[in-house]
Amino acid sequence: MFLGKNIDLHDPRNSRAHVPKATKKAKIVAKWIRKNENVCHVAQIALKANSSNFWYLDSGCSRHMTGNKSFFETLVMEEGGNVTFGDGSKRNVVGKGTISVPGLPSLSNALFVDGLKANLISISHLSDEGYSVLFSKDYCSILKPDGQTLLKGMRSSDNCYCLEARIVSNHVSMDEQIELWHERLGHMNFRDLRTLGKFNCVRGLPKLGKKANGICGPCQQGKQTKSMHKKGKYLTTKEPLELLHMDLMGPMQTESLGGKRYIFVCVDDFSRFTWTYFLREKSETFDKFKMLCISHEFSAPRTPQQNGVVERKNRVLQEMARVMLLSNNVPRNLWAEAINTACYIGNRVFLRPGTRNTSYELWKGKRPNVSYFHTLEANATF
Ligand SMILES: [Zn+2]
Repeated sequence: MFLGKNIDLHDPRNSRAHVPKATKKAKIVAKWIRKNENVCHVAQIALKANSSNFWYLDSGCSRHMTGNKSFFETLVMEEGGNVTFGDGSKRNVVGKGTISVPGLPSLSNALFVDGLKANLISISHLSDEGYSVLFSKDYCSILKPDGQTLLKGMRSSDNCYCLEARIVSNHVSMDEQIELWHERLGHMNFRDLRTLGKFNCVRGLPKLGKKANGICGPCQQGKQTKSMHKKGKYLTTKEPLELLHMDLMGPMQTESLGGKRYIFVCVDDFSRFTWTYFLREKSETFDKFKMLCISHEFSAPRTPQQNGVVERKNRVLQEMARVMLLSNNVPRNLWAEAINTACYIGNRVFLRPGTRNTSYELWKGKRPNVSYFHTLEANATF
């Protein structure tokens, strides 16, 4: 396609860029164009686009152009020649202005072309304004002058690179943030998550939105019991290591990847800091217990027989692990890794009942950092 009063792409005298009519796929042929000629190349296919949200990146196009008036922030209606399409038909340039679409850079000196279905972004014009465009086999990205990604696009089946005007991760809304962090923090419930943010209990948590519908598929599936054990609100111990709660869970239905069937859980009463160990046999429990006491220098801790604390913790860990496995289709034999992750997260994000301190802070004396937390992924290799 050419833009200009007297230039026709399909006149062989004007161009070597010839698109045979019988070929459905448009061919992109290189051709040098003088910058002041106000001309444009684009694959024919883009002109048949029927989604008005797609923007095609055109390396031969000297101006941005669209046929959709609503994209313009400012528009001056004026005659400006015509555009010749691949099939020989012509459209008039009827105006000029600045395009403003959420997620796209501001596109100045853009043409309003009567009847143009596709939205075209001129790569040369973008480059002149300091943006860079990267192309790879499947994607393209527009980078801001500081190197940050502004937009990502896809390569379509007909070999055009196009963008759907959409805001990318740098601009995640606060509502999306709360959903993302809900997942990163082991599907922590939304109310507790907001409390963490509100009272600044951890480091590295961004500002979260207030509104969340609170419905999450994996949570609904994985958290079978609605009513939890009643939380003990009062501190009966005065310092860490005064009292330990321990329990052995298992045998689990599925053997873990490392061949374990039991989970030995130990909870410090004061901080509620929790350790988990995975055992092959029940008989290994005492060895683990001894190891724990030595590595943490416990001196004859009291261990009550009856305790709701560790039972509650067991249930929380199992639920978190189940939801994490469900939400990312992680194989079931990775349950030990999931429990371990749940324990790691829990120590850093659960507030000790009756306080505004996380277990980590009560145990280590400083607020935990959560900025590096990611969601549990299935496609890791071991
Ligand atoms: Zn969830």
